[in-house]
Amino acid sequence: MADAYDVVVIGGGIAGISAAFAVAQRGQQVAVVERESTLTAHSTGRSAAQFLASYGEATNRRLSAASREFLDSDADGLADSAVLIPRNVLWVAPAGLEDRLVERVEANQVTETECELIDAARTIEICPALDPDWLAGGVIEYGGFDIDVAGLHQAYVRGARERGVTILRDRNVRNLINKRSGWHVDTAEGSLSCDVVVNAAGAWADEVAKLAGAETVGMRPLRRTVFTFSTGFDPRADDFVWCAGQGGTGIQTAPAIGRLVAALISDEVLPEELASLTPAVSPERFMH
Ligand SMILES: Cc1cc2nc3c(=O)[nH]c(=O)nc-3n(C[C@H](O)[C@H](O)[C@H](O)COP(=O)(O)OP(=O)(O)OC[C@H]3O[C@@H](n4cnc5c(N)ncnc54)[C@H](O)[C@@H]3O)c2cc1C
Repeated sequence: MADAYDVVVIGGGIAGISAAFAVAQRGQQVAVVERESTLTAHSTGRSAAQFLASYGEATNRRLSAASREFLDSDADGLADSAVLIPRNVLWVAPAGLEDRLVERVEANQVTETECELIDAARTIEICPALDPDWLAGGVIEYGGFDIDVAGLHQAYVRGARERGVTILRDRNVRNLINKRSGWHVDTAEGSLSCDVVVNAAGAWADEVAKLAGAETVGMRPLRRTVFTFSTGFDPRADDFVWCAGQGGTGIQTAPAIGRLVAALISDEVLPEELASLTPAVSPERFMH
């Protein structure tokens, strides 16, 4: 016998857990099914964690505006501390892409948020790590925030559990069957039945759509990396060695990178096959 729910949500990231919480608030029996052993292994755990009212297209902006009250109330008081922490944002552009800065200003006019178009000299003053030969100017957006993503996600988990939501980790949904009595959600560890399935599988949403025989929208999983650091940060500081940015091949390149770092730290002459790589792995590659 499959465990029975009103709603099964596939994916336990921020989209899935927020949907589960909101549905459970309305008195429905909900299960969240997540294939990883943690709920935030993918996009939700990798975000740059910024809230900017002006960001994205018109639809995104409307959704951001409609999310604001919940975020401002620290997830209806479910979060342990403030979910939004004020942080201004500096956008920068090289010569030839100044129109992107103007777009930022226009976006802020739409959302009536304060911003300022600034020249290259002022931009460098704010962020001395930028390359003056590359930079054309910047825009400061006032009124941005850091989102405490972990705090927000945990608040939803807590709220969802308080409302009886079942959260199942390590459960890969491998088939979806639409029977007359409702949906049958098949995982290796057992089946669930429900009236409604919510596809919150993030970058795998098309794969889940295919399982359900639903139309796909052209999504595919890709890997993106974001570095965040304070503006006072000096990437050329003494005794600071970069061992970062190896992207999707970090495991297979780690032995060589490890040897390179060890040789640099010990002032050794670099082996020939690694010496030629230093420009490609130096901090300068992040500076433009
Ligand atoms: C580098 C980066 C920077 C970003 N910066 C920002 C930012 O500054 N501000 C902002 O608001 N947003 C930002 N985002 C976007 C934001 O992180 C995502 O939009 C959001 O986290 C998506 O959440 P999700 O729940 O849809 O996806 P995910 O967190 O990826 O969750 C989907 C889940 O579905 C599970 N799943 C998939 N298939 C199955 C299956 N068959 N069975 C069971 N489970 C399954 C996956 O394991 C995964 O855990 C950024 C994203 C990235 C990658």
